[in-house]
Amino acid sequence: MSLSGKTAIITGSNSGIGLGIAWELARAGANVVLNSFTDNEEDHALAREISAETGTSARYIKADMSKGDECRMLIEQAGACDILVNNAGIQHVAAIDEFPTEKWDAIIAINLTSSFHTTAAALPMMRKAGWGRVVNIASAHGLTASPYKSAYVAAKHGIVGMTKTVALETAQEPITCNAICPGYVLTPLVESQIPDTMKEYDMDRETVIKEVMLQRQPSKEFATVEQLGGTCVFLCSDAAAQITGTTISVDGGWTAL
Ligand code: NAD
Repeated sequence: MSLSGKTAIITGSNSGIGLGIAWELARAGANVVLNSFTDNEEDHALAREISAETGTSARYIKADMSKGDECRMLIEQAGACDILVNNAGIQHVAAIDEFPTEKWDAIIAINLTSSFHTTAAALPMMRKAGWGRVVNIASAHGLTASPYKSAYVAAKHGIVGMTKTVALETAQEPITCNAICPGYVLTPLVESQIPDTMKEYDMDRETVIKEVMLQRQPSKEFATVEQLGGTCVFLCSDAAAQITGTTISVDGGWTAL
């Protein structure tokens, strides 16, 4: 599978799943645009490392996905967008009657509304190029729920709905739109939830991982960022040209329960 000559923009890709996807798309030949809201030397170094190792062109563009105008600016500044991976996301865990309004607003803005803006800005470029792939990184929480994650579950169900709508609006064009629904992946986002969960359940780290986090993941293994990158590359392949408006779970059997 060669994505040579294609430009892929991956939002929220200076760590975790986004970075893993950027690596796999670059290994498949795509020129990748990394993004986050910071502008550190390390962010640009990640892009240089990908370029050096894959021989493709990689760039880093700072844009805050909580702000609509910056979402659109990211796509415009990239200058081309054949593959759009809407991945940026944050989490906050609290009962709904104690959920801070600013956390609710931030989760909806970054995990859902940013994809509206990036997709709206990218589709005209895909139409002009005569080819496009939109891949939304949803979650098992786009298909099922857990307590204390109201904003996250609402945003992820929302992105699954938007995926279907974008697929219908582009159904007769060489453009597809799908969502990948990962189960637990050991990234900084998940790592940050471990200390609170250890306190809440009075458990050690290993027990939290096995009995709380992976409790609903029948494989009892984390999915990996490489597996998610590989799924994304598949969705960009010709074999996936008629796959649109659907979800692919990479969750060790979670949603089969
Ligand atoms: P992570 O914290 O490692 O990465 C999140 C990325 O989003 C980072 O690059 C961060 O800089 C970026 N980001 C955060 N706020 C941003 C903003 N305002 N503007 C631009 N970028 C911003 O987390 P991750 O686990 O890699 O999560 C990536 C995506 O995968 C998220 O959408 C998350 O909901 C989803 N997901 C993760 C898991 C998991 O178990 N890790 C499971 C299902 C879905």
